[in-house]
Amino acid sequence: MLDALYQRIESKRDDLITLTQDLVRIPTLNPPGEYYDDCCHFIGERLSKRGFEVEYFRALGTPGDSDRYPRVNIVARKSSGSGPCVHFNSHIDVVAVGSGWQEDPFKAELKGDRIFGRGTCDMKGGLAASIIAVEAYLEEFPDHPGAIEISGTADEETGGYGGVAWLAEQGIMAVPRIDHVIIPEPLDKDRVCLGHRGVWWAELETKGHIAHGSMPFDGDSAIRHMTALLEKFETELYPALAQKRTDMPVVPDGAKQSTMNINSIHGGEDEGFDGLPAPIVADSCRTIIDRRFLIEEKLEDVKQEIYSLVADLHEKRPGFDCEVRDLFEVIPTMAPENAPVVLAVSAAIQEVLGKPATHVVSPGTYDQKHIDRIGKLNNCIAYGPGILTMAHQPDEYVEVTDMIDSSKVMATALHQLLNGASA
Ligand SMILES: [Zn+2]
Repeated sequence: MLDALYQRIESKRDDLITLTQDLVRIPTLNPPGEYYDDCCHFIGERLSKRGFEVEYFRALGTPGDSDRYPRVNIVARKSSGSGPCVHFNSHIDVVAVGSGWQEDPFKAELKGDRIFGRGTCDMKGGLAASIIAVEAYLEEFPDHPGAIEISGTADEETGGYGGVAWLAEQGIMAVPRIDHVIIPEPLDKDRVCLGHRGVWWAELETKGHIAHGSMPFDGDSAIRHMTALLEKFETELYPALAQKRTDMPVVPDGAKQSTMNINSIHGGEDEGFDGLPAPIVADSCRTIIDRRFLIEEKLEDVKQEIYSLVADLHEKRPGFDCEVRDLFEVIPTMAPENAPVVLAVSAAIQEVLGKPATHVVSPGTYDQKHIDRIGKLNNCIAYGPGILTMAHQPDEYVEVTDMIDSSKVMATALHQLLNGASA
């Protein structure tokens, strides 16, 4: 029934390639948040030519926002007056290039079926595929009911505060304005990502007492106190985390349990000088922990685990003093498996790819949290082209065939969600 739609998408193959290349050639690096305005206007000009109402929003005063690096977002809307609103949300920012590239990260060269460059996979390929899906859909079904929205948003890679979080706070990416959300993040074209685990970042600082390094007994080493805490992590915390398994379908398998990364550690004298160090006992040692937790865990309990280890040492270890400072937290989120957008995209995967969809949960986090918590909509998923493990890598690429296939899936799901009918 949708063959004509699929043919239309296939006929737009060159357009899809050029669109992806044009997007990748705007180096929207974050940090610092470069060229957001250019990227938003590039998308906006294209969509306004196709009859979308286009609005640009600067998230004034959000982290990183300045006149030099404005946090600009675009929301484009095509509405027929009544009916549900289906929203495609893509972040426009990309992470630093890093080393190890053979390809030019911003040339967006097409080689065979692959377009190479920073952001091809995460997630300008997904953005381009959703735009092509919507444009083909509008040509095929100009009299569709409901509303279709496409957004390009800032800062997903740094928490989304100047992007989706801000738009949700303004009621733009929130109920009742939107009903169904698809985020074309790279999760593989046959997988529906229902949500993600939770995050708690904290800085732990042990305190000591400075003294001459030749007489450490006159001081109290903050580094040794930190070592005692790290030993507790090894002997008590990590074994306990390994026992906590989730029913969330997290991929990869290693992330089906609670995890914690020790992100950094700094103690004693500052680094980065050329001379010899001065002999001192460290009076401060700081570490940053990155704890990822499961939908079965409560954030208070996750924090309490650390507080208890600290309290235990405080009681048993002379001079032990450790401050715990919250840096960042995200509550786990997961769309129900029977949510309309999950059912529609799963059915569309079956229809287009001829195989059942796999439902997964991301080990990390992305903007779905803001749509759920601030926008009060849990009928939201991530679905898009590109391979999850390619994101943020050197020689990042996206495959054109994957973009075409996922574009067909998105257009099929759009049709079903707008009409309440199956394909
Ligand atoms: Zn992404």
